[in-house]
Amino acid sequence: MRNLIKISAIILMGTMGFQNMNAQRIQKVNGKNIINPYYSRTDIKILKLPNSTWKKVLNKDLYSVSRLNETEMANTGKYNKFDGIGTYYCAACGNALFKSDAKFASTCGWPSFFETIRPKSVIYKKDESYNMERTEVRCGRCDAHLGHLFDDGPTANKKRFCMNSISLEFEPIVKKSK
Ligand SMILES: [Zn+2]
Repeated sequence: MRNLIKISAIILMGTMGFQNMNAQRIQKVNGKNIINPYYSRTDIKILKLPNSTWKKVLNKDLYSVSRLNETEMANTGKYNKFDGIGTYYCAACGNALFKSDAKFASTCGWPSFFETIRPKSVIYKKDESYNMERTEVRCGRCDAHLGHLFDDGPTANKKRFCMNSISLEFEPIVKKSK
C-alpha cells in the first residue's frame, strides 16, 4: 500500500512537471528550441526585462514585432481571418489579452478586437511615429508591442484593437466530454 502511494505520487509529480513544461512557450531561436522561462499563463507579476534578454528567448519575428515595434504585413497574419473559439494570450509572456467573442471581422488586414479580457491586460502609449498620432497597445505584463488602438470599431465603444498576429497566441476552448 505504501509503495502504491509512493508510485502514485511520483506519477503525479511527473505529470505536473510535464504540464509546466508545456505551459512554457518553446521558441525556435537561431535554429534551436529554447524554452522561454518568462512565459506563464498564471503568473501576473510585471516583467521588466531588457531587449537583450528577450532576444535570447523569442524567435526573430516575434522579437522584431514585440520588442522593436515592427508591424507584420497586412493580410499575412495567421489570426487575421481566423474565427476559432478561445482565448488569445501574449505570445511573449502568456498574459491573457482577448477572448474570441471580442474579435470581429475587419477589412484592415490585421486581427481586430473591441475589448480586452481585463482593463489591465494591456497598457497604452502615445505613438507619434510616421508623422501620425496613434495609440500604441502594449502587453500589460511584459510591455511587448501588440499593435494600435483606433476609434472606428463597429461596436458601441467604437474601439478597434488592431493587433499583430505574431504577438498573439491562440488557445482553443476544449469541450469537456460528459
Ligand atoms: Zn506579454
